[in-house]
Amino acid sequence: METTRESLLLMQERFRRFEQNLPCVIYEYVSDDTGIGQFVYFTPQWYELTEVTAEAGIADVNVAIGLVHPDDRAAFMEKNAHAAQTMTVLRIKIRIVTASGIIKWIALTSSPMSRNQDGLITWNGVMIDVTAEKLVEESLYEAKERFARMAETLPHGLYEYVIHADGRSEYLYLSKRAEEIYEYSFSELNENMSLFWDMVHADDLARLRSTDVAANRSGNLFVSEFRIKTRSGKLKWVQLSALPDRNPRSFPVVWHGVLVDITQEKQAEQARLQQQINQELAQARLLRIQQVEQLNAELAQSIEEKNQLLRSLSLFAKSSMASNLVSTLAHEVNQPLGAIAINAQQLQSVLKGHANDLHIEDAQYLLGRIRSDNQRAADVISRLRALFVLGSEPLEKFDLNELITETTEAIGFEHLRQNISVILELDVSNPILSGERGQIQMIIFNALNNAIDSIRNHGGTRAIHIRTLHQGESVVMEVEDTGPGFPDHILQNGFQLFQTTKPHGMGVGLWLSRAIADNHKATMRASNLPSGGAQLVFAFPV
Ligand code: ADP
Repeated sequence: METTRESLLLMQERFRRFEQNLPCVIYEYVSDDTGIGQFVYFTPQWYELTEVTAEAGIADVNVAIGLVHPDDRAAFMEKNAHAAQTMTVLRIKIRIVTASGIIKWIALTSSPMSRNQDGLITWNGVMIDVTAEKLVEESLYEAKERFARMAETLPHGLYEYVIHADGRSEYLYLSKRAEEIYEYSFSELNENMSLFWDMVHADDLARLRSTDVAANRSGNLFVSEFRIKTRSGKLKWVQLSALPDRNPRSFPVVWHGVLVDITQEKQAEQARLQQQINQELAQARLLRIQQVEQLNAELAQSIEEKNQLLRSLSLFAKSSMASNLVSTLAHEVNQPLGAIAINAQQLQSVLKGHANDLHIEDAQYLLGRIRSDNQRAADVISRLRALFVLGSEPLEKFDLNELITETTEAIGFEHLRQNISVILELDVSNPILSGERGQIQMIIFNALNNAIDSIRNHGGTRAIHIRTLHQGESVVMEVEDTGPGFPDHILQNGFQLFQTTKPHGMGVGLWLSRAIADNHKATMRASNLPSGGAQLVFAFPV
């Protein structure tokens, strides 16, 4: 008996310790079929939970019911009644307000254990403080809500995609934005996974598949840009990036992904690219234009250089011609100068040695000759100067006869010296030419010089004939001599420059005469007379 009592006490003690260490409230409740009744027992945690004593709770059921949060009370009462009516377990989460006003969440489980002969039901119940869990749950819910709101307002699509061990895959989540981009709903895609791959542009398909395979193998970030053709037929550029939540070799693997519609960026990029290409093209064109301009400039320069060369050549020709003229005419200058010297010498010797013999007339004569020779030399020099600026003399009308007379007189000393008679047969009507007088005089000079040269060492008659006559619309001037005549090759070759048979000749005179004749629209003809002498005939238009 003693041992039974002792063991009972021991059990009671054990139960008390167990009871005190429970993380929940255990209670016993007795009710009728409507669920209304009375608490008969609370474990000590009741006070800790409610801040109401077990005695107070047991004394008045309304004290306990009064702890239930007003918002949850009706639901609690209803479920409680239902459990009593049906004799089923009551499971409910409700809020209570403690004596000090703290709101706590409790999870209440009440099981109908037995019914006595009065029809009253005994309930064994457990109350667990789930405030902390509830808070977590709430904040989780809030976070989920926040995530959902964010996901819907994000311009990017979000998704969760799972791959199972057997290779099956499905979306766990697909945000509205992702559905908008694909133009397929979450359920449509999950029902038919090939819808996704069918959307992908043929040119991007292989690349996307290999990226996909590589990412699944490595578990690294998956990123790919590709084109899709949506249900409505729109072509979109999208960017998919996703990360798995764990090693992809242990299934299931969940990929968390972001889907971005980058069509506008791509279009902008393409426009930029096009613009860049256009710019490059424009630059290339500009370069081409610059090259052409450069070529043009080079061409212009080479033309200019050529022109310059031509100009210098012509200048050279002119100057060489002029210098040849100088040589050709040098003796014309030297002759009067030589005459001056001789006359001056004579005058000197007359003055020195034969002072007594000096006649004032002789002296005056010599002085007159010196003066006229001097004048002759000066004239030649000034004509020479005029020839340097060939073509610059003004056109004028002049008497050809007068010019011939003047010119023969100018070199009179020379032909007198050579014992050559100059015979002038000039047209009585005094033919008037219009042109450059100095140039025509040059022709006459040259003809006379050549005639004198040809006669100089030639035997027989020593004469020069100069004739002028009107012939139709022309004024003709003929110069004939009694020399050996033109050499055959001179006649055959015409009046080429630098053709000369003289040891110190220049071969310019005939050529220049011809050029002057051309200038005056005159013709020039050379031939040999039957008698053997040379004949030069010029026909000037009137
Ligand atoms: P150059 O004064 O050097 O002789 P020209 O052009 O005046 O140059 O004459 C060319 C050549 O024509 C002369 O070298 C000469 O052979 C020939 N010639 C010119 N005039 C006569 C002429 N009146 N009689 C013979 N030959 C002449």
